[in-house]
Amino acid sequence: MKYYDTVPQNFLLMRFVVTRYCNFRCPYCYLTDERRGRKKTVFSHHSPDEWIKAIDVFKDRHLELYFTGGEPLLFDEFIYFLKKALDKGFIHSVRIDSNLSRLEKFLKEINDPKVKFLASLHPTQVSFDTFSDKVKLLKENDMLALVNLVVSKENMEILNKAPHELARYFEDRGAFLNIAKDFERGLKYGYDEKYKEYIDKLQYPIDNIYMNMQNLHIGAFCGGGKHYISVSRHGNIYSCDGKERGNIFDHPKLPQGIITCNMPYCPSIISYSFSASNGFSPVEHLQDYVKRNKTYRESLDTSYLDSLWQHIEEHDLIPKKGNAGADDNRTLAAKLRSRIIKKIKSLS
Ligand code: SF4
Repeated sequence: MKYYDTVPQNFLLMRFVVTRYCNFRCPYCYLTDERRGRKKTVFSHHSPDEWIKAIDVFKDRHLELYFTGGEPLLFDEFIYFLKKALDKGFIHSVRIDSNLSRLEKFLKEINDPKVKFLASLHPTQVSFDTFSDKVKLLKENDMLALVNLVVSKENMEILNKAPHELARYFEDRGAFLNIAKDFERGLKYGYDEKYKEYIDKLQYPIDNIYMNMQNLHIGAFCGGGKHYISVSRHGNIYSCDGKERGNIFDHPKLPQGIITCNMPYCPSIISYSFSASNGFSPVEHLQDYVKRNKTYRESLDTSYLDSLWQHIEEHDLIPKKGNAGADDNRTLAAKLRSRIIKKIKSLS
């Protein structure tokens, strides 16, 4: 059974880029220093109270909110807004991408299992022990969705452990470690095949088709626009294909029916949960995502992963400028993908 048979008709996931501002300077970040340094937020044009009121336009919906950045927790206005928004019965769950640097301040104001964190580990910016303690705190409060790690050269030199061993470390503590390629360098300079194989092995196979941006989604039914929208800091609403769907401050009209997506490939990890190619429901889909991927990882051959990782380390195969002659080998298609991703990221 596909998601469109099970999802409540009124389900809506709203994604906000709270800010591009960030206190960290991760070397693989897709944001430039200039953008990470600009303190613009969704509250630069409309106050938190205006946003709280605006959300009421969707009060007949089953709403999930998703906040990303930059680093959302750095702003008291965000915490104030979220605290008030959580009182609304039609907001069923909230997820936040965060580096956790201001977690303690957040938890003093909001301690609610409706909120789940996608906690990003950035070892160049925070010690592993400090981060692990914060993950533990989130687990204790039932507020952790998963932990994210980019397999970049800098991160792995500091962590000095194979990613699959780190996954086991977090697994032993009840947390799922989501392991990502260094997309920023990979899309620029190309991937070595062994590196790609290693990271792909740690992902569920169908997710790889998506993550490697193959054409799984052409013509697929998709909830974009009907069940999933992004909202810009001015309140403009976009579906994942980049089409504008009105403004949240101005009684927007979203599509009534499921749309047929004609993008060359699915542009966002968020949109992916809505694709008909994916068997699980997009409603609080991270729970199913984690459950499915944990089971899948248990079936992996650890000794093969050990040998692959050893090969990657010995031959210095993590993406970097000039790595494996990839600069020249990058295909036209890869360059095009990189450009489209940049465009999609810039939408909000
Ligand atoms: S924490 Fe995220 S947004 Fe901030 S610098 Fe690192 S990758 Fe970029």
